[in-house]
Amino acid sequence: MAGRPALAMVAHDNQKDALVAFATSHANRLSQFDLFATGTTGARIKAALPALDVTALKSGPLGGDQQIGALIAEGRISALVFFVDPLTPMPHDVDVKALTRLAVVYDIPMALNAATAEILIRHPGDFTTPADRGEAA
Ligand code: PGA
Repeated sequence: MAGRPALAMVAHDNQKDALVAFATSHANRLSQFDLFATGTTGARIKAALPALDVTALKSGPLGGDQQIGALIAEGRISALVFFVDPLTPMPHDVDVKALTRLAVVYDIPMALNAATAEILIRHPGDFTTPADRGEAA
């Protein structure tokens, strides 16, 4: 594919520690992606891993999820990791649904937990984006 694959990352508050732990364990592999994240998630990753170049968008509740959605719709995101909190009622449940829908529409891989995310980032060279396939809107 042209350029590096782009990975978007989002974590609900109770899952931010888990995402930071995931990013720390896989920092080398993540450094092979262009990284995007919602605001607070991105700030947490940058604080833990300053060497990792993460583009932090707006905070999720303030539109960061929609910014990621727009990037997906533009064919600029190769894969999405969204660590959702399964145990607390989710005030931003609609954001999960919206991003899940776009991941399906644009056929990009989406991981909702660490086990899937680990498989997802294993081969950064394998990713294509809809833009690579000439499918970007
Ligand atoms: P945040 O957004 O990273 O800014 O906390 C996460 C979310 O959308 O739930």
